[in-house]
Amino acid sequence: EQLLMTTKEVRATLSDLDKKHIIHPVASPKRHVSQGPKIIFSEGKGIHVKDINEQVFIDGVSMLWNVNVGHGKKELAQIAHNQMSQMAYSSTFYGYANEPAIRLAEKIASLTPGDLDTIFYTSGGSESNDTAIKLSRFYWQLNGFSNKKKIISLKRGYHGVTVSAQRATGIDAFRNFSGSADPEIFNAKAHLTECELGDKSHPEYPGCIRSMIEEMGSDQVAAVIIEPIQGAGGVHVPPEGYLKAVRQLCDEYNILLIADEVICGFGRTGKMFGVDHWEITPDLMCIAKGITSGYIPLGGVVMNNRVAGTIKEYNDILPHGFTYSGHPTACAVGLKNIEIVEREGLVENAHQMGKELVKGFKYLGDKHEFFTNPRTVGLLAGFDLKKDPSLNVPFDQSTQAAVSIVEECYQRGLLIRCFDFEPGMNIVAIAPPLIIQKEEVETIISIVDDALSVFSKKLKG
Ligand code: PLP
Repeated sequence: EQLLMTTKEVRATLSDLDKKHIIHPVASPKRHVSQGPKIIFSEGKGIHVKDINEQVFIDGVSMLWNVNVGHGKKELAQIAHNQMSQMAYSSTFYGYANEPAIRLAEKIASLTPGDLDTIFYTSGGSESNDTAIKLSRFYWQLNGFSNKKKIISLKRGYHGVTVSAQRATGIDAFRNFSGSADPEIFNAKAHLTECELGDKSHPEYPGCIRSMIEEMGSDQVAAVIIEPIQGAGGVHVPPEGYLKAVRQLCDEYNILLIADEVICGFGRTGKMFGVDHWEITPDLMCIAKGITSGYIPLGGVVMNNRVAGTIKEYNDILPHGFTYSGHPTACAVGLKNIEIVEREGLVENAHQMGKELVKGFKYLGDKHEFFTNPRTVGLLAGFDLKKDPSLNVPFDQSTQAAVSIVEECYQRGLLIRCFDFEPGMNIVAIAPPLIIQKEEVETIISIVDDALSVFSKKLKG
């Protein structure tokens, strides 16, 4: 019967079923029920995705910054098939183990900086951050500092939606959703860029975190958690020297440093990890997304010997873990995915294509008066739209500047994302798969160029 239906009819049926049965994350439920799904995806290949009506789009943000090796890698399907055929799932509770989880742990230890050599597996980014927060507190308990429970995070940091990750997130709507609480998590008033304080040689730099620690008392603080480059908060790159200063601050006050590498990890920024740009080693590193390029859910917390060594001395049962911690199929896909990243030189390609994006942004900045504050680290990129960049005048909320650009790009077959969760904020993010080629970067720039021109024209009436 389905075969006789036109694709339009299939779409209408699926749309009705979706509206009836699914509540979508980060979408307006009411609008969804009235409008239905925006796109129903059916296929992906390289940097392109297709919907069920055969319309093709460039995936300009690698879906959720995660499809790093691009869509349609048959090798990853094959390795999942092989592992599933052999043994799809086994648990890692009670000391059970499996070869893919062991091999992947060894591989990750070889890639992460310093002595980040031990992993606790999770199923994604939020679980990794909650796990890192719990393990930090546990570390201090084991060392006899049970009062060290507080966690400091930054404004506009995004760490996920499980309760501790949610409360570490510095975006109000997410942080406050449903009133869930972890009262020991404190969000700084400043984000990465604002922490600069003007004078980088000033001993107070990075001042916002220092003053929070001093106010709380360092004997109360377990850890600071930050993204090396903030992603979902609007792509904010730390000022030079900032991460080193945070590392020193944590050492000075005997506080653990957690790096949330969920977006930055595995080549996104043109180095294997975000922290590699500033040559610092956190005590705990949270990974997910790019570890499998989104082909299957997987995450983890990688710990240095200081943290892992203490935990490895614990003789009771560790009451923490997820059914899918160390999932053999997910780990097999993770290993193969890293093999592809290395074999195809994708970290270097991200670096090179980032330079092409820089050129494109320069062109857009010269041409469009509203385009400002471009930032690009590898293939993690963003820009702002302002009414008058020279006087720092934002657009009125009603102008919906960033939303309009994203919509115009969508009309022209490019999927990108915008952030406008604070008054006056109009940020657009671009983060294509790391396999992207020069001509494809140019296509993205030319579509954004057209979108900006249409927006300008509309604005001027
Ligand atoms: N941390 C960062 C930096 C993220 O960008 C995200 C998701 O976008 C998360 C954590 C949460 O990861 P997940 O959605 O896999 O739980």
